[in-house]
Amino acid sequence: MKQSRLFEKTRREAPAEGEAENARLLTRAGFIHKELAGVYTFLPLGLKVLRKIEHIIRQEMGALGAEEMRLTVLQDRGVWEKTGRWSDQAVDNWFKTKVRGGGEAGLGFTHEEPLTRLMTGHIRSWRDLPVFVYQIQTKFRNEERARSGLLRGREFLMKDLYSFCRSREEHEEFYGKVKQSYLRIFDKAGLSGKVAVTLASGGSFSKHSHEFQVPAEAGEDTIHVCEKCGTGVNDEIKSETAVCPECGGGSFKKRKAIEVGNIFSLGTRFSEALGLSFDDESGRAKSAVMGSYGIGVSRLMGTVAELFYDQKGVIWPPALAPFDVHLLEVGGGAETRRRAEEIYKELLAHDLEVLHDDREARAGEKFADADLIGVPWRVIVGEKSGQEGELEVERRGEKSSMMPLSKFVRAAKSGQSHV
Ligand code: ATP
Ligand code: MG
Repeated sequence: MKQSRLFEKTRREAPAEGEAENARLLTRAGFIHKELAGVYTFLPLGLKVLRKIEHIIRQEMGALGAEEMRLTVLQDRGVWEKTGRWSDQAVDNWFKTKVRGGGEAGLGFTHEEPLTRLMTGHIRSWRDLPVFVYQIQTKFRNEERARSGLLRGREFLMKDLYSFCRSREEHEEFYGKVKQSYLRIFDKAGLSGKVAVTLASGGSFSKHSHEFQVPAEAGEDTIHVCEKCGTGVNDEIKSETAVCPECGGGSFKKRKAIEVGNIFSLGTRFSEALGLSFDDESGRAKSAVMGSYGIGVSRLMGTVAELFYDQKGVIWPPALAPFDVHLLEVGGGAETRRRAEEIYKELLAHDLEVLHDDREARAGEKFADADLIGVPWRVIVGEKSGQEGELEVERRGEKSSMMPLSKFVRAAKSGQSHV
């Protein structure tokens, strides 16, 4: 990609005070554009990051044996009335709209109801189960406050997975696998060691559901992290217990945190309300045992920005960066241009994603923009750039050094994640 052709230019001025840090950083760097409070457009650079997150998630969903589908955004009132979740008293963040010809539709904020109803046409006998399906889709929630940038959108991207099992045991086995899978997803996305698995109330069978919480000042949740085993408990659980439910430890550290995902045992609440039953091996009708498992895809992008930045801009974990390498051509001149082109082609041939700053601009401006965009590796090509086959290489925030091309390619590829 040539930077002179890049759709969005970085901006010197930060957006208005009062914006969350993630929104300020990502807006300045040209990743997102605010349309309304809590409603963001993903510009080409931002979409690249989202796609990388989605790719990591799809790999892990595949490994769980889950199939991807896409449910509708527009929701049929009737099915939500059956579970008691249509009324604004029961769910206070619905966006609803009138339908021509009569009636009302809602914009989906989650999808248990339509999916459970859909499954009544697909599940008859125990042989049809278990079923694991997921989608990555824009959700709509009329949130009361939307001042946290990508962390709390009124329109946001979610991955939601649903499981339908024959028994509680089968459900629990899958639930445990999803828990591990989520930790791998967050590790791969650059949050290794940053996620506290947190017990929250709710969920049938097991007393708890689990949240995946990233301690951060920008977080809207409060968690209490056990100093002995690292497990978190939310406020509600903390008020009921003096010791860690996981290890019995007695001291907790209170932290603000961002919920990047959560997993929930639903039991038979939805399958009973919507008549999703199957014949077991002895021919008896049983209700399917369900679970739902969410990840905030766009919130995850905002979380990473909240965690990894300095006063100059974002510092992307390699797996999420919009490019693997930022090639900075500085100083001008025909020879510099020729070398930069040559290196660009060579890096592409090694399957690296490269952003080539080929603009007519001062070196200082190019470096400042590179800092804002936050690509983890930088290759600098100028008049004094050393021998053929050697590159001047810099990691974001570190000093530059000379490196043979082959060595650099290995280093840059080790962290990449191709979509
Ligand atoms: P929260 O407690 O933050 O309001 P939730 O518990 O209602 O979220 P779920 O309905 O379980 O969230 O949604 C699954 C995931 O979607 C959450 O774990 C979170 O990462 C993400 N998410 C929820 N609401 C939003 C939002 N308004 N903007 C961005 N991401 C969200
Ligand atoms: Mg929550």
